Amino acid sequence: MSQTKKVPLRKCTGCNEVKNKKDMIRVIRDKEGNISMDATGRKNGRGAYICPDVKCLEKAMKSKGLERTLKAKVPEEVYEQLKAELGEING
Ligand SMILES: [Zn+2]
Repeated sequence: MSQTKKVPLRKCTGCNEVKNKKDMIRVIRDKEGNISMDATGRKNGRGAYICPDVKCLEKAMKSKGLERTLKAKVPEEVYEQLKAELGEING
């Protein structure tokens, strides 16, 4: 008997594709309203998920999907920071 493990899925804010949570980047807004990338996935706060792909980030920027999900204005420098970090992940 083989059991199918339930994989937690999340929708990308950029491309709207549903993927394994582990393969996605979590962006959170904490109580103070600071928006940051949550690499550990353990920070408290409202979270949005995005593929580790700059293209998805750009889509999320244009559609304001990230702002809608986080229910907060995302400052330009946060986008820049995310872009830089995603760039590093992609090598
Ligand atoms: Zn995506």
